[in-house]
Amino acid sequence: MKKNLKTIRNTVWIYFAIFITSILILLWFTFGVSLEANYKKLKTSSIFDIASYILVDWSADEFTEDKLDRLAYENNMCVLIQDAYGNRVYSYDMMADKCLVHGINAIELYKYRAAALNTQSGMYYTQVKNPRFNTDTLLFVMVLGDVSDPSGYIFLNTSLEPLDSTIDIVHSQILRISIMLLVLGLGISYFLARLIEAPIVRITKSAKKMGEGDYSVKFDGHGYTETEVLADTLNYAATEISKIDSLRRDLIANISHDLRTPLTMVKAYAEMIRDLSGDNPQKRQEHIGIIIEESDRLAALVNDILDLSKLESGTAEINRTKFSITKKIHEIMGRYTLLSEQKGYNFYVTADKDFEIEADIIKIEQVLYNLINNAVNYTGESKTVYITQTVTDENTARIEITDTGAGIEPELLPLIFDRYYRAEKSKREVIGTGLGLSIVKQILKQHNFKFGVRSELNVGSTFWFEVKGRVTGEDDND
Ligand code: ADP
Repeated sequence: MKKNLKTIRNTVWIYFAIFITSILILLWFTFGVSLEANYKKLKTSSIFDIASYILVDWSADEFTEDKLDRLAYENNMCVLIQDAYGNRVYSYDMMADKCLVHGINAIELYKYRAAALNTQSGMYYTQVKNPRFNTDTLLFVMVLGDVSDPSGYIFLNTSLEPLDSTIDIVHSQILRISIMLLVLGLGISYFLARLIEAPIVRITKSAKKMGEGDYSVKFDGHGYTETEVLADTLNYAATEISKIDSLRRDLIANISHDLRTPLTMVKAYAEMIRDLSGDNPQKRQEHIGIIIEESDRLAALVNDILDLSKLESGTAEINRTKFSITKKIHEIMGRYTLLSEQKGYNFYVTADKDFEIEADIIKIEQVLYNLINNAVNYTGESKTVYITQTVTDENTARIEITDTGAGIEPELLPLIFDRYYRAEKSKREVIGTGLGLSIVKQILKQHNFKFGVRSELNVGSTFWFEVKGRVTGEDDND
């Protein structure tokens, strides 16, 4: 077998690796690459929040310097509040006078104030470089009161660049998380792969054993519903195969036994003719008769085997012709006269109306023969066989072959139509191969005719099948 890299374990590993790599890429992208961009966005939106917070406090007259100091400190912001005339009312400078709103001159501040007054909302913000530190900062102006009649101005100023130390901390944190994720991921994927492949490995081992001919193996797929179903299916297959295997062995035993008997006879009588009866025309005639009879048996046996294999492989075509099944039954029964005269068998044939069907005449004949031969073989002491044909509705006739033998045990009933199945060797009037009923089954199935059997121990069995056709005008007189 080719060693394949596409094992479950590798697949799970690969997908897990892809999964973890994606998470890491995302992580690095979010925190590593776009940290600064996000920082800017975050800062811009938070400055609005803080401005509106101050505004609310201011309007409600709840504003205290303490509160503002804390707000500015917590948010890393410089704050400047001016009255309507540009006088400083409050200020907070976390950068010790290096903050933009404190560092730039009054004229410039005036420019920003004017810009805010020019907007409808009374808010204006812009990105300004802090000339001293050469960093990007956000400058925000908000008009207190109405734009047409301002009562003051709030200036907010904050850096747009995260502190290097913050970035360092984040990066080292990400690195740690990445390594942990990697280790965790590898560990989990390893166990996951082991977990998933365990029942499959077990099943494979059993399958190998089965392949070597040990049909007693039990497939164990516990762990997952799917593998359990698989194991159940394989267990079922194993029992079926072992059944077929033993049937096949039985068949070979049966066939060789059945072939040997006539062959021994042929040989024995041929030798007898050579050594003893060759000169006695009467004896010779008799012995040659036996040889011919035995050869016929052999031919019949071989034909059975061939027929079944043809029927089962589906290569046997059915040649439908119209014929009267009623007449056919009578005709066949005529050939059993010898058996009834010489061996004392009683055949009772009843048919209500003449029924015409369109079917393969040779095959239907074979069905009748096989069923009647079985009835003869198994009917026992009473030596009585009933054959009845009943028209059950306009286009259906039911044919039943009933014997008064020992019957078939209920648990064997479903088996007897199986190939090769044969109850313990019994003495037969007519030779059998264990294939008769499977041939019957195949033919009737091919014709789409229903069939079945009912049997009662020590009372007898009835094999039946239903043919499709029509009643002809003729009356059946028998
Ligand atoms: P064979 O009769 O050659 O063994 P069949 O396929 O015709 O093979 O029948 C299979 C088995 O079914 C027989 O071996 C026998 O055990 C059982 N069987 C068939 N017909 C009858 C019957 N009429 N009465 C009792 N048992 C029967």
